[in-house]
Amino acid sequence: MKAVRFGETGGPEVLRLEDVGIAAPGPGQIRIRHEAIGVNFIDTYHRTGLYPLPLPSGIGMEAAGVVEAVGEGVTRFAVGDRAGYCSGPVGAYAEAQNVPADRAVKLPEAMSFDIAAAAMLKGMTARYLLRRTFPLQRGQTCVIHAAAGGVGQIAVQWAKHLGATVIAVVGSDAKAEIARALGADHVIVSAREQIAARVRELTGGEGADVVYDSVGKDTFEASLNSLKPLGMFVSYGNASGPAPAFEPGILAAKGSLFFTRPTLMHYTRTPALLQETADDLFGVIASGAVKVAQPARYTLADAAQAHRDLEARRTTGSVVLVP
Ligand code: NDP
Repeated sequence: MKAVRFGETGGPEVLRLEDVGIAAPGPGQIRIRHEAIGVNFIDTYHRTGLYPLPLPSGIGMEAAGVVEAVGEGVTRFAVGDRAGYCSGPVGAYAEAQNVPADRAVKLPEAMSFDIAAAAMLKGMTARYLLRRTFPLQRGQTCVIHAAAGGVGQIAVQWAKHLGATVIAVVGSDAKAEIARALGADHVIVSAREQIAARVRELTGGEGADVVYDSVGKDTFEASLNSLKPLGMFVSYGNASGPAPAFEPGILAAKGSLFFTRPTLMHYTRTPALLQETADDLFGVIASGAVKVAQPARYTLADAAQAHRDLEARRTTGSVVLVP
């Protein structure tokens, strides 16, 4: 089968489409034939070595498709089931992959493979951020960075659904239009506005209850300065590079703030947590509270171009690869 692999870390050009073999699924595994593969920012961190992998390696954490073989002891899935996964194993940029059955979820009948691959990793992330890390209450104010991106588009709609006031931060005026259409109450264009000053202005000087920051290095200071006393800084990504090391005393100085650096893995670490997270996500999509836009589609052979576009901030919403 075809699979995208890389032997050294670097730019998108290190990604190569190769012919590889695939074994029968082992005990507890299922083999999913991929119909759509989710492209996520974490894939770029794996490729550059920011999150190191043993090399050579496959790449990609998420795909949706059809079960074509089941290993010994698997009872929850049968051949022909529609299934998806979004927490690895690494190697989703391929025509098929063997996956532990307890890391896979059944896909709702009404959900296309494209939407599933666009929504699982990003939507489950939005879910744990908004409902577990800092459970948003009606009337609270949140700041959502990269609001027109994959995670961002889902998070903005979900935060509105929970009754929060949403201050969306985006990189351009075109993306501001998208954030507004999703229901954001206020939009800050980072290219020409001071984020923290605008958040203060929009909150009557008080600051936000929570900032969900996926940008990292470039927005660290602004996020710290956007919070009200006892507010929570949720630093969950590195799109511009990792957030800097800091003295804990800064949290006292800025208002006895809370700081956390969460990852999806820990919030879906058991099959029960994974299923609960998926059920909640599929529920808000089915009800129409969260609408997932059709993702941009690239062929598997064009994985490098998908990475270039994602890293250059040219994409909005989600990106999928089609085998
Ligand atoms: P996005 O579609 O959100 O793309 C990243 C966006 O970040 C860009 O479109 C851009 O939006 C913004 N950005 C700001 N500065 C930069 C920069 N210097 N370079 C590139 N992008 C920049 O990607 P995803 O939805 O896949 O992921 C969003 C973020 O969430 C990533 O940081 C990812 O690592 C993180 N994440 C974390 C998880 C976790 O559990 N911790 C799980 C899933 C995702 P704009 O132009 O509007 O600024």
